[in-house]
Amino acid sequence: VKENGKNDCLFYSEDWSNSSMARLTLQHEMYRAIQRKEFVLMYQPQYDLATGAIIGAEALVRWNHPERGIVSPSEFISLAEESGMIVQIGDWVLEEACRQNKEWQDSGLPPIPISVNLSLRQFMQRDLAARIAAILDHTGLEPKYLDLEITESMTMDLAHVARCLVELTNLGVGISVDDFGTGYSSFHYLKNFPIDRLKIDRSFVRDIQQDPSDAEIVAAIIAMAHSLDIQVIAEGVETEAQMAFLKHHNCDEMQGYYWSPPVSSRNIEQLLSA
Ligand code: C2E
Ligand code: CA
Ligand code: CA
Ligand code: CA
Repeated sequence: VKENGKNDCLFYSEDWSNSSMARLTLQHEMYRAIQRKEFVLMYQPQYDLATGAIIGAEALVRWNHPERGIVSPSEFISLAEESGMIVQIGDWVLEEACRQNKEWQDSGLPPIPISVNLSLRQFMQRDLAARIAAILDHTGLEPKYLDLEITESMTMDLAHVARCLVELTNLGVGISVDDFGTGYSSFHYLKNFPIDRLKIDRSFVRDIQQDPSDAEIVAAIIAMAHSLDIQVIAEGVETEAQMAFLKHHNCDEMQGYYWSPPVSSRNIEQLLSA
């Protein structure tokens, strides 16, 4: 039931990002959303390109808003990042993903690592490794079944990144670099930081067929990563032709609508037990 109050009016105007009042309303709603358990996780399976087996799943947050319905992360993550709320949301995501993964394992499903996206704010927290250790401890999930996705934009403060990644790796969790190729990256950090996997950004995969330079870039990323003993997963794979190209160039894994969009935890259970 919508009232005609000013806030509601702004809140329901399509563009949340344009009005400061709408942003404040959204921030307030987000804060309550944690308490009210309105966030939900969807899971997108990751596949071994050679065998077609599911080798992981990425947790992707959604906001099940009481009036707006399902809100996608592109509509609220950046505001959550600005306001700092992303830290609480991110803690919830980590906790829920680990709890869910442990539950899958306990029900006898084949164990897979779960990938969780970290935001810059979370990554900058001094006690990140300790928080993650605590979550692993009380959910009972073994560290090797958690994979953290960071982006290249987080690697600007090299001293902090080095310390943080070493702490996380010492815990035994995996580290993937998300959206690879879109940000600032250097061979230095690929060579010196403990990175397990690169995720080739969807924008390169999308145009593999049409744009020869994107095809070259993808092939080069795979070859370079392998020479550094880093695994490669392609994201946003939508067609058979894209998959064939990636397979031909020895990409290790893929994730994308071609095999599955993000699905509910129950659907993952079905996929894993099939
Ligand atoms: P991302 O980490 O790059 O996640 C991949 C996005 O691509 C997801 O969108 C996924 O649904 C979508 N996708 C997967 N396969 C395909 C495909 O074949 N084609 C196309 N066109 N899209 C595909 P989603 O779930 O809307 O998430 C958007 C972004 O929001 C994510 O991009 C990530 O940056 C952020 N995000 C999602 N969940 C979290 C979270 O828990 N914490 C943080 N910090 N960020 C999150
Ligand atoms: Ca991601
Ligand atoms: Ca990505
Ligand atoms: Ca992306």
